[in-house]
Amino acid sequence: MSTPTKSPIPKSLQPFLSGPKKLLINGQWVAAKSGKTFDVFDPATDQVVAQVAEGDAADVELAVAAARKAFDDGPWTKMTASQRSQIIWKIGDLIEQNADQLAQLETLDNGKPVGVAKAADVALAADMFRYMAGWATKIEGNTIPLNVPYAPGAQFHAYTLREPVGVVGQIIPWNFPLLMGAWKLGPALAVGCTIILKPAEQTPLSAIRLGELCLEAGLPDGVLNIVTGFGETAGAAIAGHDGVDKVAFTGSTEVGKLIVNAATGNLKKVTLELGGKSPNVVYDDADLETAIAGAADAIFFNQGQVCSAGSRLFVQQGVYEEVVAGVSEIARNMKVGNGFDASTQMGPLVSREQHERVTGYLKAGLEAGAIASAGGGPIEGDGYFVQPTVLKNATAEMSVVREEIFGPVVTAMPFKDDSEIIGHANDTSYGLAAGIWTRDISKAHKFAKSVKAGTVWVNCYSIFDAALPFGGYKQSGWGREMGHAALENYLQTKSVCVNL
Ligand code: NAP
Ligand code: MG
Repeated sequence: MSTPTKSPIPKSLQPFLSGPKKLLINGQWVAAKSGKTFDVFDPATDQVVAQVAEGDAADVELAVAAARKAFDDGPWTKMTASQRSQIIWKIGDLIEQNADQLAQLETLDNGKPVGVAKAADVALAADMFRYMAGWATKIEGNTIPLNVPYAPGAQFHAYTLREPVGVVGQIIPWNFPLLMGAWKLGPALAVGCTIILKPAEQTPLSAIRLGELCLEAGLPDGVLNIVTGFGETAGAAIAGHDGVDKVAFTGSTEVGKLIVNAATGNLKKVTLELGGKSPNVVYDDADLETAIAGAADAIFFNQGQVCSAGSRLFVQQGVYEEVVAGVSEIARNMKVGNGFDASTQMGPLVSREQHERVTGYLKAGLEAGAIASAGGGPIEGDGYFVQPTVLKNATAEMSVVREEIFGPVVTAMPFKDDSEIIGHANDTSYGLAAGIWTRDISKAHKFAKSVKAGTVWVNCYSIFDAALPFGGYKQSGWGREMGHAALENYLQTKSVCVNL
């Protein structure tokens, strides 16, 4: 591991960054009603890089009115599905055409290595819009044969219509700012909803650029409104607004529960993609070289700020020391630095607050008796850097094992055999993902069946695809993102029954 390096912000971003960035309401970029703005920081340098409009309840009011009008009056909802599909596809094309700039914005805002942002975040976002563009023309109901025992002899023609749920509020986090936008917007647009999007206060820039690209692609006024601002004001106003028919949220389980409460006013539909504390299990019969690299990637990818990160590593006792030594060596050799430096493998955490949170967990874990076999603390300097960390000697009741740290910190614990691993794996209030590394297919499938998690990776980790549903069991959420499952979040079914 080396100390962070500094790289200048690409000059090509300067035109976009100059002047306060505005809210997108009814197809226009406007200042917040209050006139307020907030600062956006580069997490690698702790420098302010942009000012963004601080929207609040008054702006949400205007955004909801615009989305309501666009939904109730059209033209979006009156277009053919094919016309909608072409606009959504074009958004994917424009993301691809602007891939370098979008990747740079992600690095500046979130800190992640720019090569990773381009290859993963931006590429997956473009793919998501294209995947969902394909679905727009394939939203179909059923014809249903009826029995109706109390109407003998009568004949009915019954069918279902699949209709958009209406005006949708979408509140997204800072770990994959552009991609979380794509996961939310893609399916909602495909079925014909209109949207108020609130990006995280730490990372609003790529969502604003995405808004520009959506207008360029021909999205009609009011279909997508973007209110940048804070969760407690703008976010809460969206979640509680009676003109919003559905709210889709990604973030912490704690705020997810607040969203559910706020939604009770008009009983708006809610889907939630929340935290995780995912088990990653290495058996002694695994291809250890692949498993070690995979276990390191499962926790260190995106600085560990991944809801499905493999943060609880369980290793079968015979190979425990070897696997822990291997993952620790990878951690110690990781190049931590500014995401604009091409050689950087791990960037800073997203914010000072997150840095304090993660280093607080490290301190608590070490005080409770965990031992760092790699890392264990912050990296001194201006940015929000922490050492990639492997903790041994962690026990089930420690906060580092129970709570989502959302940083590059893995606890490595030994297990004996099949009889105990499922108990360990499921000993969590979360259920987002799980990994298993073994050459025994029977073991792998049995584990996949018994683990309470929305995604199971076998001999791989962090494989995401627009076509593969993703979401949580237990307190990791309600509903699924991606795949055709995601369309369900934004559709409702109308049954029509005709007496012939
Ligand atoms: P968070 O507060 O849950 O933020 C997620 C989104 O919700 C942001 O857009 C946030 O706005 C908004 N929000 C916050 N309070 C709200 C409220 N009362 N009503 C409506 N919206 C609200 O997450 P965080 O504070 O940024 O991070 C804290 C922890 O959450 C992390 O350490 C991690 O454990 C977890 N997390 C999980 C995920 C995930 O993908 N599952 C993603 C991010 C964080 P502001 O940004 O303006 O507060
Ligand atoms: Mg927050």
